[in-house]
Amino acid sequence: MPNPIGEILDTAAAIAKGMGVTFKEMMSPTVTEYYPDEPPKFEERYRGVHVLQRDANGLEKCVACFLCAVACPANCIYIEAAENTDTVRISGGERYAKVYNIDYNRCIFCGYCVEACPTDAITHGHGFEIASFNTSTLIKRKEDMLAPLPAGAKPPVVAEEAGAAH
Ligand code: SF4
Ligand code: SF4
Repeated sequence: MPNPIGEILDTAAAIAKGMGVTFKEMMSPTVTEYYPDEPPKFEERYRGVHVLQRDANGLEKCVACFLCAVACPANCIYIEAAENTDTVRISGGERYAKVYNIDYNRCIFCGYCVEACPTDAITHGHGFEIASFNTSTLIKRKEDMLAPLPAGAKPPVVAEEAGAAH
């Protein structure tokens, strides 16, 4: 036969336990984000819009090896390679990416391109505000993704400018 006193005590204990969790959470710091009034906080490993990195001298790290494009399951990376010369030096390797586009209509932010890159040239940044009604704005060019020059570094020689000088 059920013991009504025991059931009441069990119920009271369960309520007290539940309320204990509630009060503990009430005392914890809030995790509410006030975006867009305040910038959101990201985990370090958040995969946002890509950043094409430069080395300490300001040269582009991308050497146009195409490994990222091959690794991309969405086939959304488009690269055109060009050779560095004595007068035109854009990257630290033999070649550089004259054109480097990522189509964010197709990118699934899987990070395979980042893993495949032998020079750590392509990384995920924290940019996320890319929603658009115009899909053509979702094709980001190298110029949109290049990291800023390090302090004191001179801009790499641009091919067209060097060509025009001859
Ligand atoms: S994150 Fe994935 S889908 Fe996007 S460009 Fe890189 S490999 Fe392709
Ligand atoms: S971003 Fe990296 S993997 Fe892709 S072409 Fe440049 S160097 Fe190669």
